[in-house]
Amino acid sequence: MLIVMRHGATADEVQKVISVIEEMGYQATPMPGAQRTAVGLVGNDGRVDASRLEGLPGVQEVIHVSKPYKQVSREWRPESTVVRLAGGVTVGGTEVVAIAGPCSLETERQVLESARIVKEAGAVILRGGAWKPRSSPYSFQGLGRPGLKLLAKAREETGLLICTEAMDPDGVGWVSEMADIVQIGARNMQNFSLLKVAGRCGKPILLKRGISATIVELLLSAEYLLAEGNYDVILCERGVRSFDTMTRNLFDLTAIPVVHKLSHLPIIADPSHGTGLRDKVIPMARAAVAAGADGIMVEVHPNPEEALSDGAQTLYPEQFTQLMREVRIIAEAIGRRVAEPAAVGA
Ligand code: PEP
Ligand code: MN
Repeated sequence: MLIVMRHGATADEVQKVISVIEEMGYQATPMPGAQRTAVGLVGNDGRVDASRLEGLPGVQEVIHVSKPYKQVSREWRPESTVVRLAGGVTVGGTEVVAIAGPCSLETERQVLESARIVKEAGAVILRGGAWKPRSSPYSFQGLGRPGLKLLAKAREETGLLICTEAMDPDGVGWVSEMADIVQIGARNMQNFSLLKVAGRCGKPILLKRGISATIVELLLSAEYLLAEGNYDVILCERGVRSFDTMTRNLFDLTAIPVVHKLSHLPIIADPSHGTGLRDKVIPMARAAVAAGADGIMVEVHPNPEEALSDGAQTLYPEQFTQLMREVRIIAEAIGRRVAEPAAVGA
């Protein structure tokens, strides 16, 4: 429930609303805005009787949020959330961000070369997993903590921001110490205890859609993060499992406008995992930007044939350069622009 205060409501009036919400046994979250101040009521699982709040001085209206993903919904916050990263990079505004890099971090040389390549082509954020959620326990599991050091070095050298996955609560601690964005992977989208830890880590979160998760389930998982006080959440469409084996996943582009309608959170698209096929990544990245994605996440490797994971969906450097050229044109055609790495210096 959202208690919208009148324009010019006093601090005492807002405080009274907060006290009454707390007396009723719920939590109050004041949300000062440019146009109006609202006080959110959270902690309820069902409709709350608003009669005690409606008549309080300074209260303009009470909005019952009909969605189970309350704080994530547009009813709760009509304006789009803009996640602000270091160096002035924003996700969810007019800019379209490119996050690119290898699937797995492998060697220092591979990480630094990847960073130079993706920066040169126009990415602003470097990706790469230090911990990899692999279907087989015998597949390469990642370098672990030493991988984070390589990312730190790449950031120092190139000025790229860093997005990397945490798979467990310890990982959230280590990743949030160094990275600019903590990625929660598809397989962990409904790892609710991990989401709670991530919600308290103090860094923006990239939350990927689960392998067979509905859009509502994705939004409910994001609600776990917001419920812990982390409002810097970026969603990611990365394809869902389907009956068709032609592609690795069914890349659900419709999720982009659907999420934008239901939620104020930004959503980016990952056509690499979405398709699993290198030659499908460029067309689907173009389509995602055209559909309104706030960014793209793409796997790129200096030498994809030698990649220790996901080589088949990983772009060659020159393909990524081409992709960036094309998405710049598409972004401009819809009144947006691709964030340029110059904005992050170095
Ligand atoms: C990844 O981004 O490398 C990854 C493992 O993705 P997902 O969680 O979407 O499978
Ligand atoms: Mn991958």
